Amino acid sequence: LETKLKVIDFNLYYGNFQALNNITLDIPENRITAIIGPSGCGKSTFVRSINRMNDLIPSVRTHGEMYMDEENLFDINVVDLRRRVGMVFQRPNPFPKSVYDNVAYGPRMHGIKNTSDLNDIVERSLRAAALWDEVKDDLNKSGLALSGGAQQRLCIARALAVEPEMILMDEPASALDPLATLHIEELMQTLKENYTIVIVTHNMQQAARSSDFTAFFHMGEDRAGYLVEYGPTEE
Ligand code: ADP
Ligand code: ADP
Repeated sequence: LETKLKVIDFNLYYGNFQALNNITLDIPENRITAIIGPSGCGKSTFVRSINRMNDLIPSVRTHGEMYMDEENLFDINVVDLRRRVGMVFQRPNPFPKSVYDNVAYGPRMHGIKNTSDLNDIVERSLRAAALWDEVKDDLNKSGLALSGGAQQRLCIARALAVEPEMILMDEPASALDPLATLHIEELMQTLKENYTIVIVTHNMQQAARSSDFTAFFHMGEDRAGYLVEYGPTEE
């Protein structure tokens, strides 16, 4: 297996509070890695470090190293990094815009203006997110008018539209009903053919069903997050 992301002795502080302590792991390419552990142990903080979402919080300081394809993550321009590392959140958060404009948003931001190019990207992304058949007859419908599960797949399509290499999913199914959850889990299995996926979950069954590797985080007495075990997912 190729390593997509190499993390070496990564530490993160919110002010004086240390939220992550010496996290070291290799995340493999084209596989699903689950980050699992109790609430507050730093799972979200860890994935938000991968696309440097935490940089938006003024009190955050980090030390340690991360490499994506052997390139130092902290040398990558943040706009490029956010394109290369897509993110999907716990609550589906489509923009209050049409399905089409949700998916075209990222490519437009990156300067793609030609309508037929945008049409192609929108169709391809919605197909890849298993949403095309459901929305193709009304791409002008508001993203907010879709069901919760379809909204989450729209958010996945929006992330895919800028051709990321990795997709971070922070509890992507915890706000969804069981059937929609199953759809997201099935979708992850097809997405891993083309992308490296990191999913945060506190649901052991979900991690066992849908991941290839599992990283167990644990909260120390000092409340910092530690990586306690990492390896192939066991049933
Ligand atoms: P998890 O995702 O495992 O529930 P988080 O990464 O959300 O854990 O939080 C880890 C710890 O960091 C918690 O103690 C939380 O309160 C703290 N934390 C998270 N975000 C911030 C922040 N912006 N400022 C200060 N502390 C934070
Ligand atoms: P979730 O459970 O969806 O991960 P949280 O409720 O833990 O979200 O956190 C929501 C937001 O509040 C996040 O941006 C997180 O960084 C921030 N946050 C969490 N804990 C703290 C904290 N102790 N102090 C300041 N901000 C925090």
